[in-house]
Amino acid sequence: MGVRLLRPTAGGWEWQSGAACSGSDSSLFYGPQGESAGTRRWRERQARALCASCPVVMACAEFALAAGERHGIWGGLTETERSILAAGGRVYRPAAG
Ligand code: SF4
Repeated sequence: MGVRLLRPTAGGWEWQSGAACSGSDSSLFYGPQGESAGTRRWRERQARALCASCPVVMACAEFALAAGERHGIWGGLTETERSILAAGGRVYRPAAG
């Protein structure tokens, strides 16, 4: 018996055609195991800066929340932030200064 993989429909993924991160290094959005806290903060700041300029940021965040994406930065949200939002909590992020 073969393994059947779910395939996204075009309508579910078409927002990705406008992604600001298209062609970017995915390591900016997915950190390695054992990443130091300082490196992680730097990496997440860089990824969020790209997300902040992305025309599909809301669609990306909504997709990740609906899909229960457990890893990476999607729509400018980290794994932890998505977990908090999924549990009904609120995310506070102080303004950069
Ligand atoms: S919001 Fe961020 S992760 Fe999502 S498509 Fe845009 S740049 Fe990529």
